Amino acid sequence: MPVAMKFAVLTIFPEMVAPFAAHGIVRRAVESGRVSISVVDIREFAAGRHRVTDDRPYGGGCGMVMKPEPLAAAVRAARRQMPEALTVHLTPQGRPFDQDLARQLAREKGLVLVCGRYEGVDERICQDFVDAEISIGDYVLTGGELAAMVVMDAVIRLIPGTLGHEDSAEQDSFCDGLLEHGHYTRPSRFEGHGVPEVLLSGNHAEIRRWRQETALIRTFLKRPDLLAQRPLSDAETAILKRWCRDIERLLQRQAEHRADASPGDQQEG
Ligand code: SAM
Repeated sequence: MPVAMKFAVLTIFPEMVAPFAAHGIVRRAVESGRVSISVVDIREFAAGRHRVTDDRPYGGGCGMVMKPEPLAAAVRAARRQMPEALTVHLTPQGRPFDQDLARQLAREKGLVLVCGRYEGVDERICQDFVDAEISIGDYVLTGGELAAMVVMDAVIRLIPGTLGHEDSAEQDSFCDGLLEHGHYTRPSRFEGHGVPEVLLSGNHAEIRRWRQETALIRTFLKRPDLLAQRPLSDAETAILKRWCRDIERLLQRQAEHRADASPGDQQEG
C-alpha cells in the first residue's frame, strides 16, 4: 500500500517526538504503512564539534534564537526526501489550528514540521523556508514539539483507513459544526446515575434523533459561538424552537407559582 501521508518533524529534541508513533491509532497507521513519521535531529545539520543550534539575538535582549543555517539545511534535506510536502512552522504567531485546518492538511502528501525552541527561529527561516505557520492556541509553549504532535495526531485520524470505523471521524465534534452527543457504556447504573432510556431501547431511529438533539443542545450550552457561525437545518430550528417553548412554559409556571404564593406571604407578614 502506498504511504498516504509522510511527516518529518524537525527538532533539537528528537527523543521527545520518537515515542509518539509507538501508541494506539498512530502506531497502527504507521505499522499499516498508511503513514510514515521521521524525526530529524536539527543538531545533525549544525556545524562544528559542539553542533550549536542557537545564538544570541541581534539587537540584544534575553534568550537565544535558533540559528538559520542548521534549520535551512534540515528543511532542505527533508524536502529532498518529500518534495511534495508542505513545510509548516509551529509558532504561537501562526494560524489557529482547528478541525477545518486538520481536514485541509489531511489532503496533503506530506508535512515537514519545524519545531522552534528558545525565543523562536531566525526570521529568515520563517520568510524563505516555510509554507505555513500554525499555532495550537493562544499560549506560549517552551517548544514546537508538542504542537507538532497535536497537529499530526489530529491529521492522522482523518486519513482514510486509520480509524477502526470509517465513519467515526465523521461523527466527532466539529465535523458538522457541532459538538458530539454524550456517550455511555456499561454499567447501566453508576453511583446512582442511569443511562438515558432511549439508548437502551434498541430503537435506532429514536437513538439517532436523541443524538442529533443532544449534540445541538450541548453545542448551544457549551459553545454557542459555533452555532452563531453555522446555518441551522429546518429540523434543528424546530428542535431549538421546541426548547424555547418548553423554557417559556417553565418560566410561566414559575411565575404563576410565585403569584399564587405571594398573597399568603403578604398576609403572614
Ligand atoms: N518568542 C516567541 C513568541 O513570542 O512568539 C515564542 C517562542 S516559544 C518560547 C518557543 C517555540 O515554541 C516556538 O518557536 C514555537 O515553535 C513553539 N510554540 C510555542 N507556543 C506555541 C503555540 N501556541 N503553537 C505552536 N507552537 C508554539
